[in-house]
Order: sequence, then C-alpha cells, then structure tokens
Amino acid sequence: MHERTQDAMTYVRNYGRPDLFITFTCNPAWPEIENELFLGQKPHNRHDLLARVFHGKLKILMNLINKGKFFGVVQCYMYTIEWQKRGLPHAHILVWLQETLHVHKVDDFISAEIPNPEEDPELFNCITTQMVHGPCGAIKPFSPCMKDGKCTKRYPRDFLKETQTGKDGYPLYRRRRPEDEGFSAVMNVRHSDVVVDNRWIVPYCPLLSRIFCAHINVEYCNSIKSIKYVCKYINKECDMAVFDVTSSDCNAHNEIYRYEMGRYISSNETVWRILNFPIHERYPTVIHLSVHLENGQRVYFTEGNAAERARFAPETTLTAFFRLCNEDEFARTLFYHQVPR
Ligand SMILES: [Zn+2]
Repeated sequence: MHERTQDAMTYVRNYGRPDLFITFTCNPAWPEIENELFLGQKPHNRHDLLARVFHGKLKILMNLINKGKFFGVVQCYMYTIEWQKRGLPHAHILVWLQETLHVHKVDDFISAEIPNPEEDPELFNCITTQMVHGPCGAIKPFSPCMKDGKCTKRYPRDFLKETQTGKDGYPLYRRRRPEDEGFSAVMNVRHSDVVVDNRWIVPYCPLLSRIFCAHINVEYCNSIKSIKYVCKYINKECDMAVFDVTSSDCNAHNEIYRYEMGRYISSNETVWRILNFPIHERYPTVIHLSVHLENGQRVYFTEGNAAERARFAPETTLTAFFRLCNEDEFARTLFYHQVPR
C-alpha cells in the first residue's frame, strides 16, 4: 500500500495534480442484480451477483472515461476497490487529463444541485435517492457521520450562487436557494417527510449518474494540497479487527501473525478475490528502481547456484546505473529516475 502511494506520487511528479477524483459505489437496486435474485432473496444474500455486476459496471465506467474520452483525453488513471465492514464495494478513481479541466468548465461536468424534476424526472429520481447526504444533524443526530454534534462531512453545506474554486483542495460548487431557482425534494426519514434542498447534495456528474444510477461522487481537484491525501486515501490498508489477546504466546510480537489474525475480509471482498477481480489498476506502469547499499541488494539463489551468486551477484538497476555513469558522458547529466526514459 505504501509503495502504491509512492507510485501515485510519481504520477503527480510527472503529470501534475489529478483532475478528477471519482468514487463509484455499487447500487444493490440495479435491475441486473434484482432480476437475478431468487424468491425471498435480498441483494446481501448474493455477494456473487453484487461483485459480478459491480465489476462489469466498473469496466464500463473506466472504458467510458478512457476510451470514450468522457471528460477528455486521459493521460493516466489509477483506481482501488475498497469495502466497508459488511458493506458494498466502491472504487476510488483518480484521473489525469491531457488538457486540464478549466475552472469555468467545472459546471459542465459537475453539479451539486437537485435537477429539475420536470425536465428530467429520471435524473431527479436518481439524484434524490443516491446523492443526498444524510440527512443528519438535527433531523438524525445519531447518523454515523455525526461527531460531537457536527457532521464530519460538513453537511449541510452553504448555499452558493456561483461555483468557486476553494482554498484547500476542492472547489465550492454552486448550490442555489429554493427561492433562487434551486429545486428541493421531499424525502421520507423515519416515517416523516423532510424537505431536502441543494445544501445536502453530494457533487455528481449528471451524465454519469444518468447512465449508471448509482452513488457516483465526482470531485474536481484544484490544488496540490489535497493530492497527498487522495493518493494516500485510495491506497489505504484494509480494515482491521483485533479479537484475540494472549500474553504468554510467543506470537504476540510476530507481525505476520498479528496481520493475519487481525485482517478483516468481508463476504463481498471474499467473493471478489475468489473471482480474481482486480483490487487495483493503473496506467501507465510504474517500475520501481532499486536502492541499496553496496553489496546490500536482494539476491535470489538456489542450492546449486548459491556460491556462484555470492561471487557474482546479478546486476540491479542501481549497479547498472553506476556502471553506465562510468562509461557514458551523457548519463552523468541525468538523475537516476530519468535514465530509463
Ligand atoms: Zn452528515
């Protein structure tokens, strides 16, 4: 995971900040899932279906973005699949575009408003079921996002007439008031009707939401500050659950044992791994160059060739770099990481 985060930072070094940060979550109400359920089954009884359908939809989404040039020509991308405990799979996707998305174009791709119910009832339906945060706060004080009486995701947001590029990473999207052409929707929370306005909408891309009808959060990255967080976030370690403590056991300080005991894999992740679906994909490839002290490189050997390997260790990228610098004038003007290119 640490290496992947470093790899993501390599993209940043070469291509600058990513343009888009997309979170795509499986929707258990997709007809492809519901139609295949047997009588009396609920989607959570069929992790095989959830995994297969989400995997297929993710492929379509990545094809749309990469081959379909949905947001423009893609320079590089990276995604990681994640599960919450007992939860559905979701993909965190980072996209670097050839032509950086201009601030003025953000409104063309990303909206944080309830769509017009008469103009596009289908989109209205999707957004009001998939993209409303909470509601939390006074309406639902025990919502999981609440901490010390405040929403940790900072909802409800403020109303805003025009999209602004924010100071600390994400822009502030346009969220018009109901009296200012903004729309609102009535939601049923705990058997009572609650009116939801644009302050509660998670940013989305209208066309993507229309195609997939799922929770797809699309964010525009506009500052370098959020990048390290995002690169780290999409590559964070799996969930841990420690359930056994022994003091007399010699395994207490065994890191491998502790990792294996504490690793938590949900039913859905298990199916995903059995089906051999990718957890992480990216383009282009990042190759690690070795760094080691003199005679400190990793050497693989068998019983037969151990003596031979000890005398003449195979060359690593680092020793090859030193040899090249010895022989080649031009190579000496380059940094180590520039040589392969
Ligand atoms: Zn909240």
